[in-house]
Amino acid sequence: ILEVKHLSKAFGKHQVLRDIDFTVRPGDVTSIIGASGSGKSTLLRCINLLETPSAGEILFHGKDITGRGVNAPAYRTKVGMVFQSFNLFNNMTVLENCMVGQTKVLKKSREEAKANAMKYLKKVGMDPYVHAKPRQISGGQKQRVAIARALAMEPEVLLFDEPTSALDPEMVGEVLSVMRDLADEGMTMLVVTHEMAFARDVSNHVVFMADGVICEEGEPQELFAHPKQDRTREFLSRFM
Ligand code: ATP
Ligand code: MG
Repeated sequence: ILEVKHLSKAFGKHQVLRDIDFTVRPGDVTSIIGASGSGKSTLLRCINLLETPSAGEILFHGKDITGRGVNAPAYRTKVGMVFQSFNLFNNMTVLENCMVGQTKVLKKSREEAKANAMKYLKKVGMDPYVHAKPRQISGGQKQRVAIARALAMEPEVLLFDEPTSALDPEMVGEVLSVMRDLADEGMTMLVVTHEMAFARDVSNHVVFMADGVICEEGEPQELFAHPKQDRTREFLSRFM
């Protein structure tokens, strides 16, 4: 569904990603792990067209989305993103947050958008809070709303950039449990995470990045139990 080919990204002279290659198949749950500064967020931002790659291709259903004439908002309805800092609209209610993309970008009627928003808010357990503003709910609840908002666009792929890193520890579980349910339902997900248990137990593919390159990738059981590269071993030893 997604193919990243020879992707590179530099900010000025600083080469942040080098020759990244990987493939995401429908239903894959891929975890991207690696030290701070290794380029994980930049990679996701390239895939979501929030950054322009310096070289290489990103194919979505075989079509390069990095070229000119690609409609980024339309593409982002199919490849949605959930951010560490939620990025909710603070002046809107929970329900409005989950409707606005549907009415503005997908041009759905308000009734249809509302029904759909309610469906996904229910799914993440946030339907009792539809009329709350983001400042009135907890971090874990905000992130569940952000996930419902992304789902309401009915994307084919969801990207998550450290969705639990900004949360108090007691709220991490509720967000991971929503993500685990999505994975079980066959949602295609690409997840940057420091939650090694999630990477090992929920994903079917793990990519370890170091200094802007993919150092090692593979099935989680194999990669966690028998890392081939010294750098992978060294990184994982910090968590075990
Ligand atoms: P973390 O785990 O801390 O989130 P990361 O793996 O997501 O790290 P990135 O945020 O992708 O890492 O950053 C990789 C490198 O690119 C860093 O050295 C960072 O300073 C640099 N970088 C990221 N965005 C920009 C930018 N807009 N301009 C210049 N440099 C940037
Ligand atoms: Mg990051």
